[in-house]
Amino acid sequence: MKDTNIETTVVRTQVERTQYLEHSVPLYLTSSYVFEDSEDMRASFAEEKERNIYSRYSNPNTSEFIDKMVLMEKAEAGFAFASGMAAVFSSLAALLNSGDHIVACKSLFGSTHGLFNHYFPKWNISHSYFKIDELDSIENLIKPETKILFAESPTNPGVDILDLEKLGEIARKHDLILIIDNCFATPYLQNPIVYGADLVIHSATKLIDGQGRVLGGVTVGSADLIKEIYLFSRNTGPSMSPFNAWILSKSLETLPVRLEQHCKNALKVAKFLEKQSAITSVKYPFLKSHPQYKLAKKQMKLGGNVIAFEIKKGLEAGRKFIDSVKLCSISANLGDTRTILTHPASTTHSKLSKTDRLESGITDGLIRISVGLEHVDDIIKDLEQALAAGENF
Ligand SMILES: *Cc1c(COP(=O)(O)O)cnc(C)c1O
Repeated sequence: MKDTNIETTVVRTQVERTQYLEHSVPLYLTSSYVFEDSEDMRASFAEEKERNIYSRYSNPNTSEFIDKMVLMEKAEAGFAFASGMAAVFSSLAALLNSGDHIVACKSLFGSTHGLFNHYFPKWNISHSYFKIDELDSIENLIKPETKILFAESPTNPGVDILDLEKLGEIARKHDLILIIDNCFATPYLQNPIVYGADLVIHSATKLIDGQGRVLGGVTVGSADLIKEIYLFSRNTGPSMSPFNAWILSKSLETLPVRLEQHCKNALKVAKFLEKQSAITSVKYPFLKSHPQYKLAKKQMKLGGNVIAFEIKKGLEAGRKFIDSVKLCSISANLGDTRTILTHPASTTHSKLSKTDRLESGITDGLIRISVGLEHVDDIIKDLEQALAAGENF
């Protein structure tokens, strides 16, 4: 399914049918696979032939999910993980050695911050952060031991946009591995590899499943880097389960149609929020007021489903607003069919110091809304009544 449009690719890419000629791909709940004879087993372990051996290494369901992601991201190869963080950790751990250094944008997912700040230093892996508006200073942070340039775009939860082409140029000039966490965009909206990324990571838990059911992660990119990540993961065991891969591969079949509607709803909600007097700022990539609007238009097909906005009166007012919604959920997930609100300063990023939070673009009054697939008028009505309920904002 190499030359088809993305909508066809996600529906029609599938592993070979069994003797039952099933139309929909079955779930392969098997931990291991049988060999013809001892020679077949020897050759398989020696990697002289490509085949399933054990489901920690590969499984038809994970292979199908990976194949779809590789095609969508214009990559060469991939590996699927139990969660987005398993993908982030295992991909970096596979490539880094003690003494290596990472340069990363400071606007990062909370647990990725945790990994860089608290765990990698245990193995003598250090990092330097640049702020979202300091792309020009990246080159000053690069040292001889720098190996990886890491960033998200759009960022979670600030919804800032980074110039992928510029990051690609810097990575090539300094021989760094550029890794983009493409979770907020999905491969339907943006392909970082086109701009020079070597690896693209996704939390499949979010928009890729899109229905809030399973955790998953995936890394795709160049064949030689994925080979290292595969060998590391085959030994250390962070692989995706066949069941989750089966779910996620089916989720991908509807990704394009879901995304179209998510983004349409989100743009309408963003425009509504922009008009409210209790809200000081609204950040959505496809709003003209977004500081990187032009860049977002260049890099992304649509604006995504996440909006960050600021309640005028700060932390308590932010929490009160969230407490007043009736239809929308208060939950830690995003990219679900259900609209979800979170308050990052008191939850996902509460472990960062206030200075670190501000430098990551998270103010006390910041609310993140992941716009779902309910009718947009109902979402807006709920936000409207929550704003009215908090007249004291
Ligand atoms: C959620 C998320 C992750 C982690 O994914 P999990 O599946 O929750 O482990 C990583 N990066 C970003 C940008 C995320 O939003």
